[in-house]
Amino acid sequence: MSDKFDVIVIGAGPAGYVAAIRAAQLGLKTACVDAFVGKDGKQALGGTCLNVGCIPSKALLDSSKQYFNLAHNLPAHGISVENAKVDMATFIGRKDKIVKQFTGGIGQLFKANKVTPFFGKGKLLKGNNVEITGNDGSKQTISATNVILASGSVPIELPFAKFDGKYIIDNAGALDINEVPKRLGVIGAGVIGLELGSVWNRLGAEVTILEALPDFLAVADQDVAKIAKKEFEKQGLAIKLGAKLTKAEVKKNEVALTYEDKDGAHELTVDKLLVAVGRRAYTDGLLAGDTGVKLDERGRIVVDEHNHTGVDGVWAIGDAVRGPMLAHKGSEEGVAVAEWIAGKAGHINLDTVPWVIYTEPEIAWAGKTEKELKDAGIPYKIGTFPFAAIGRAVAMNEAIGQVKVLAHAETDRLLGVHMVGPGVSELIAEAVVAMEFKGSAEDLARIVHAHPTLSEAVHEAALSVDKRAIHKGN
Ligand code: FAD
Ligand code: NAD
Repeated sequence: MSDKFDVIVIGAGPAGYVAAIRAAQLGLKTACVDAFVGKDGKQALGGTCLNVGCIPSKALLDSSKQYFNLAHNLPAHGISVENAKVDMATFIGRKDKIVKQFTGGIGQLFKANKVTPFFGKGKLLKGNNVEITGNDGSKQTISATNVILASGSVPIELPFAKFDGKYIIDNAGALDINEVPKRLGVIGAGVIGLELGSVWNRLGAEVTILEALPDFLAVADQDVAKIAKKEFEKQGLAIKLGAKLTKAEVKKNEVALTYEDKDGAHELTVDKLLVAVGRRAYTDGLLAGDTGVKLDERGRIVVDEHNHTGVDGVWAIGDAVRGPMLAHKGSEEGVAVAEWIAGKAGHINLDTVPWVIYTEPEIAWAGKTEKELKDAGIPYKIGTFPFAAIGRAVAMNEAIGQVKVLAHAETDRLLGVHMVGPGVSELIAEAVVAMEFKGSAEDLARIVHAHPTLSEAVHEAALSVDKRAIHKGN
């Protein structure tokens, strides 16, 4: 086979593999180079998301939720089970099977779409050539008219709490613990800290989360964050805000931590420490010195609004570039870039990328927070509706949280929708569609929503923007 392609994608995460499939669908001869090694020592396509991110974390979140419900939710339904136990081999094994199913599925999709996979580390050379170094050190060079860089991200390491894979762990480590730790410390009350902290808390670990910032979930709307924090604390997560880790020392099968907050220095001993303080764009070894591709001050590949790097035929997508580090954001960039390369009208709108945190209750939002609107001086109206007044949520015994709609005070255009409660990971899609179509609160309010469903909370919150919610006082 010729080693000249129309498109080479470096990285087969949700940004890269989707870009490769879309490019191939458009008739472009496409290769995808990826270096990820799975648990079985073989190439595992799908990147962080499929191997050690979105998919395995959701598998463990779901298993742990079933267990937690046995003790904490089912008794209210009159159902009780004695001596419930978790078999850890099955718990972790089920997750591994799901990962294998999905990573293997990418290989099949590549075959079906005639994408040529390469296993190894890709380096962009000048002139859109890509040097691939295999695990055995062997080298080959392929070239293309267009190269899409989709090298993703890796966890940020704290210099005084370096990952050792056993006691001080990252996301991959926290997805592969074989015995429930008695005490789990988590650094960072961000998305990973809350999701993976929840998994182990539900199985009985004492989880303490240290967060450096004084506000909880500062990226989310603060009304939502407040409700969520209260619920997480009820579940047993100990969340310490304004707490800065200063020392982490592994001693005799334990990790001794020192942290500082407004009251001074404190000590905490845990059996494992998950460090989840954010991720950095991964570009180590990706670029030869003379390619002309630039990195910004945070190490991300610099791109314009079309994900073009400014170097002829070189594009970049996903976690390696600006914007939220989310799988669906990277995938949509991948589709858009493949379409731009094929001369079509690609499209990506970073303003309506939804965020979902898969805790209990779930958290989801799209668009601006109330604080962002205030800071920008944009006049807005607010509508809210609690799940406590939604029949379906009460029937499920999950009547926690609310939907909050922010609309422009003069035009009524939807500016942000923020949810915390049951099933909001699915409910947010309606808000995203409405916002993408530049809809108004009135539009959402006039759409028929099935009864009794959780989606009625979105309907009522939209009605409440103009003080005409039916099932609460306005
Ligand atoms: P990645 O998925 O990181 O893939 C990059 C790939 O490129 C990797 O396979 C890497 O090995 C390979 N690579 C890098 N450099 C080279 C090179 N030079 N040569 C060859 N190969 C290379 N996002 C969500 O939207 N929803 C979630 O629920 C969610 N949950 C998450 C849970 C966890 C625990 C973590 C860690 C992340 C989660 N994310 C989630 C974020 C999501 O995983 C990332 O946003 C997404 O994987 C980014 O996709 P990407 O393709 O840009 O990069
Ligand atoms: P994050 O940015 O979500 O959270 C990191 C948290 O750590 C922040 O609250 C930050 O203030 C805090 N922090 C930073 N330095 C600290 C320090 N020294 N001590 C204590 N706290 C500190 O990062 P993450 O949780 O590592 O996740 C990385 C990214 O992965 C997320 O931002 C998200 O883009 C993606 N992700 C998404 C999902 C999802 O979509 N459900 C799930 C997991 C991860």
